[in-house]
Amino acid sequence: MGVRAGDTAVFPRLLDLEYPSVERGEGVWLTTTDGRRVIDASSGGAMVTCLGHAVPELAAAAAEQSARIAYFYNHHFTSEVQERLADRVLEVVAPEMARARFVSGGSEAVETALQLARLYHVDRGDPERWRVISPAQAYHGSTMGTLALSGRSHLQEPYGPYLAEHLHVPPSTWRSDPSGGAALAELDRHLDEHGPEVAAFLLEPVGAAALPAYSPPDAFWAGLAERRERHGFLVLFDEVVTGVGRTGTWLAAHQVPLQPDIVAVGKGLGAGHSPLAAVLCRQHVYDAVEHGSREFDLGHTWDGAPLPSAVGLAVLEIMVERGLVDRVRDRGPSLLQQLTDAVGGLACVREVRGRGFLLGVELVDPRDGTSFLPVDMDVAGVVDDTAFEHGVLVTSTHPQADGFVGDQVLLAPAFTSTDEELAEMLERFAAAMRTVQSHLERALP
Ligand code: PMP
Repeated sequence: MGVRAGDTAVFPRLLDLEYPSVERGEGVWLTTTDGRRVIDASSGGAMVTCLGHAVPELAAAAAEQSARIAYFYNHHFTSEVQERLADRVLEVVAPEMARARFVSGGSEAVETALQLARLYHVDRGDPERWRVISPAQAYHGSTMGTLALSGRSHLQEPYGPYLAEHLHVPPSTWRSDPSGGAALAELDRHLDEHGPEVAAFLLEPVGAAALPAYSPPDAFWAGLAERRERHGFLVLFDEVVTGVGRTGTWLAAHQVPLQPDIVAVGKGLGAGHSPLAAVLCRQHVYDAVEHGSREFDLGHTWDGAPLPSAVGLAVLEIMVERGLVDRVRDRGPSLLQQLTDAVGGLACVREVRGRGFLLGVELVDPRDGTSFLPVDMDVAGVVDDTAFEHGVLVTSTHPQADGFVGDQVLLAPAFTSTDEELAEMLERFAAAMRTVQSHLERALP
C-alpha cells in the first residue's frame, strides 16, 4: 500500500499515483514500509546512487563534516574540502578542464553553464550572442532557463511564456537521420539565419533519459567541430547523468571526438548521499572572465558548501580506490550483451544500446517493428509499473509525444552491483518485458 494524494500533506508530482514508501536501502536493494524488496536497476530511479544505497563511507564523510562545519556561504569563504574537491575533479575526472564551480543539482549545473557561456561572450565584447542550439529530444532541467533549452514542447507546457526561444536540430537516429546529415543541414540553416546571435551548441555526448546510451554519428561530430571553429560559438556538454564514470570513462566526453568548452556534471558526483553537481570549464572560458568583468557571482546558497563537498570527495576516493570506472568500462559490453539476449528478441524492442552502465531499450509498435507506439498508451509508464510489480526499478520516458524518439527504457545500475545482482536485475526486467509484450499483443488491434 502506497501513499495517495488524498492522504498526504506532500504536494506529490502525480496526483493520481499511489507512491510506495521506501523505508531503507542497502546496496542495490530498496525495502518499502510494507516490506517489499525491490532491486534497483536505475540508481535510485534517477541514475544517482552510483555506489548503491546507504554507503557507510559516505554516511561517515557526511557525519564527520557536519560535526566540524556543514555550511557557510561560498560568497564569503572557501574551505579546504571545497578546494580539495576541485583539485580532485580536475586531476581525476577532467584534466582537460581548468576550473570547477560546485552547485546542488543538474538543473543548477546546466543553468550555470548557460550563464557562463553567455558571460564568456559578453566579457569578450560579443553581447548579441545568447541563443543556444541543441538536439530537440533532450531534457536539461526544470528551471525556466534550462526548460527553455529542451525541444520537447510537451514538457514546456504551460510555462511557455517564461521560456526564451532557443533553436533545435532533430536527433540523428536510425529513424530519420542515421548519417547526421539532416541535423547538420538544420544547424546550418539556423546559423545562416541567426549566426551572430548563437552563443552555444548544447548536447549530451551520450544520451540519458530521452535517448539512453545514444551518441550522434561521427559525421555529426566532425561537422559540429568545423562549425564551432568557423562561427565561434561554445560547445556545452550536459553530462549531468554521464559524468562521473557512468559510461565507463570519467566523462562521456572522453569517448567522443570533440572537446567541450563547458561541461555540466551531476547526479553520480554526490552519489545520492548529498545534493551535488558541478560546472567545469576550459582555460579560455575562464580567461574571458579573468580579462573581462572578473565576476561570476551569480550562484546558489548551497554552492560549494562543506557538507556536499566532503561527500563528493569521498565519492571520488571510493571510485578511484576500487577502480570502479574501469569496472564499468570492462563490464559494460557483456552487460549490454546480456540485456540484448534478455529482451532483444521481443517484437516491441527495436534497439538495445549500452555504454558502460548506462543502457537503453527502444520500444516500437510490435505490429511493424518501426512505428512509434500509440502515445496515449504510455507504454513507457506501463514498463515502469510492470517492472516494479516484478520487483525491479527501471526508468522509462516517452518523448515520442513530441515526435522525436520512441518510448525508451533506461537501466543504470550502481557501479558496485555484483554480477549476481546484475543478473537478477536483468532476469526480473526480462520477465516484466515479456508481460508488457503480451499486454501489447492484447491491446493493439
Ligand atoms: N540534464 C540531464 C541530462 C538530466 O537527465 C537531468 C535530470 N534527469 C537534468 C539535466 C536535471 O537535473 P536535476 O533534476 O538534478 O536538476
